[in-house]
Amino acid sequence: MQAEPQAFDRVLSSMCTRPHPAAREAAERFLATNPGDPGTYPTVATLEEEAIAHLGEIVGLADPAGYVASGGTEANIQAVRIARNQASTDDPNVVMPASGHFSFRKAANVLGVELRVVPLDEGLRADVDAVSQCVDEDTALVVGVAGSTEYGRVDPIPELAAAAQEVDALFHVDAAWGGFVLPFTDHEWNFEHAPVDTMTIDPHKMGQAAVPAGGLLAREEALFDELAVDTPYLESTSQATLTGTRSGGGVASAVAAIEELWPGGYHAQYDRSQTNAEWLADALTERGFDVVDPELPLVAASISEPLFEALRGEGWRISRTGDGELRVVCMPHVTREMLESFVADVDRLAARTRVAVSSDD
Ligand SMILES: *Cc1c(COP(=O)(O)O)cnc(C)c1O
Repeated sequence: MQAEPQAFDRVLSSMCTRPHPAAREAAERFLATNPGDPGTYPTVATLEEEAIAHLGEIVGLADPAGYVASGGTEANIQAVRIARNQASTDDPNVVMPASGHFSFRKAANVLGVELRVVPLDEGLRADVDAVSQCVDEDTALVVGVAGSTEYGRVDPIPELAAAAQEVDALFHVDAAWGGFVLPFTDHEWNFEHAPVDTMTIDPHKMGQAAVPAGGLLAREEALFDELAVDTPYLESTSQATLTGTRSGGGVASAVAAIEELWPGGYHAQYDRSQTNAEWLADALTERGFDVVDPELPLVAASISEPLFEALRGEGWRISRTGDGELRVVCMPHVTREMLESFVADVDRLAARTRVAVSSDD
């Protein structure tokens, strides 16, 4: 096999990044372990407990329950599954803001629950009044997003928690991407700020762990009882994960990255990413593009279709929001030099695509 993975030097829209060297090394060492079978692989099972304890510290939860999932998708599916299994209705629904991740669509489909999607307010956050109007006695789960995938917005988490409590629903916070940057901001987003029941936080995004390392946390261990199935041929007696065999690489690399970086390294990384996002937002604003203010290190800007395609043609790995805006995620591998070179290409190609567009008229 001769193929090489892509370099990261033109990757601007990924939510994943180059793993921290310590995380890469740990992932390689623990690749052939299976935390799904703790009786056979006890060392990695212990590491998983450490990972969850660390994640608990990051999200303000003293005695966390949880596990290292394959990613935010599995964690979100499992959160919906907990809520569905616990709900005392035959017709459960999940209420989420329009900024909710598409993994909740998978969850609703797989689990047979109704997904109610509520419009956002003008600031691109969940509209609490709309959520309150949407919930009813069949609502099993209310979802809040702490660091939305498209615009990096943080929903009003305490208010959404209250809306969930009104109807006795569980409350889940999706901090898959935001969880490793929000501790360094003033946002209210975690278990200390609100009666959050479950949370998704992915070490393999801003946490700089190797893929696959997602995280699902719960305030009460009892919530995982909703998921437990008996495991006849294993020494352990039950399993709450969605996957069976799973790589210990993600688990070990999550512990290695967090031990290396929490809190000082992540704080410095957040400062760098946020400064870069603001620099890019200013640079694009100066050039006349409409830019969504980067509240977290994620910049969205309206650019023309031909310019977007021309930038892709230069090898920039960029993607678009649902509304078609360019979306740049200032992940740890995204340096100021990369952004300067990107903006230089924007200048050069904008001139060319404008000429091309007007000569088409
Ligand atoms: C990335 C992301 C997910 C999905 O996580 P995967 O690790 O890709 O499965 C879910 N929610 C949010 C907010 C995300 O940013």
